[in-house]
Amino acid sequence: MKKARIILHVDMDAFFASCEEAANPKLKGKPLIVGGTKKDVRSIVSCPNYLARQRGIKTAMPLKKAMQLAPDGNFIRGTRGIYSFYSKKVREIFYKYTPLIEPASIDEAYLDITEVLKPFGGDAYKLAFSLKEEIKNKLNITCSVGISGNKVCSKIASKQNKPDGITHIKPGEEKKFLDNLPVERIPGVGKATLKKLNKYGIYKISDIRKFDKSFYQEEIGMFSAYLLNTANGIDEREVTVYEDYEQKSLSKEITLDFDTDDIIYLEKELYYVLEKACSRLRKKNFKSRNLTVKVKYEDFTVNQKSRMTDRFSNIEMDFYEDSVEMLHMLLKKDKSIRLIGVKFADLTESDDTVQEDLFKQQDKLGRLVKNIDKIRKKYDYDILKFGKTFDI
Ligand SMILES: [Mg+2]
Repeated sequence: MKKARIILHVDMDAFFASCEEAANPKLKGKPLIVGGTKKDVRSIVSCPNYLARQRGIKTAMPLKKAMQLAPDGNFIRGTRGIYSFYSKKVREIFYKYTPLIEPASIDEAYLDITEVLKPFGGDAYKLAFSLKEEIKNKLNITCSVGISGNKVCSKIASKQNKPDGITHIKPGEEKKFLDNLPVERIPGVGKATLKKLNKYGIYKISDIRKFDKSFYQEEIGMFSAYLLNTANGIDEREVTVYEDYEQKSLSKEITLDFDTDDIIYLEKELYYVLEKACSRLRKKNFKSRNLTVKVKYEDFTVNQKSRMTDRFSNIEMDFYEDSVEMLHMLLKKDKSIRLIGVKFADLTESDDTVQEDLFKQQDKLGRLVKNIDKIRKKYDYDILKFGKTFDI
């Protein structure tokens, strides 16, 4: 039998607000609303601190409303760069405990601690406590930790005891822990899914088990296995260490269905890999301006071209023209191409994405592609295709 795993989900508490307070302690002791100054009447709340939350202020609430709820609060736009700075510092502390780290976003990560418990007498709670305290003492920001045998359960658990708390689900008790929690605590269950589930009397996670797979198949499509597995406390996904991440580069390539020198077909496939790579960049909250296009010819020789683009981005449209030009340079009269790849190097964390949404209405492309990512995540990658990747 496979050894039972122990996985932590670490979730920073009110991360953007906590970073601001750590960088500028004068902000402490009052409701703090990151999202805009009092002049930014059309902005929305990006991150309220806990004192602001006590007044009923929530993420995505219009700033105007937040001003009514906390007229005495501090309203700030957010400081560029500090979130990725703290995120990196937190990650450095993680690495002192285990090499198996999967950053899930700028303020969340999964840590597989199965093999590193010896110095803690085999006690996962002790490790989690030490980790949490070290982050608090060194960086002046707090986090909450969920401990269990799998990712989804730990993620749900980390929300249970916020802020600055640890929720430890003992091996084999995952199901019991989940039973009485509301279904919307399952990551990915949004308003629309919740409404459908409630319609059938499914309110608690244990209620999910009243129906079988075919019911979920018909009612909510591809979500079915995930929901049932979660309700049974099962999640086999590994904590995935992205090597690319360590190397500060990200690449994506595809082998074509057939070797070809048809430039229209090649451009279409190039757009497809570019889209996939950019979608990964966005998911990991990275931007790049260092793009490489690589091809493998029919005789398995490889060639590539690299270029610095005008600005950091994670949007495929920003890279497409450059990538097409590089592809043209790589074309050879006497050789067909069997593989196309793109690589982004010098990745930088784009912690300004939220702010761009909030303050720069012009960044519509950014929001568009983010929404596309959401739709694809929910349904299937191929549900949305741009003209360029349609079959010709
Ligand atoms: Mg958080």
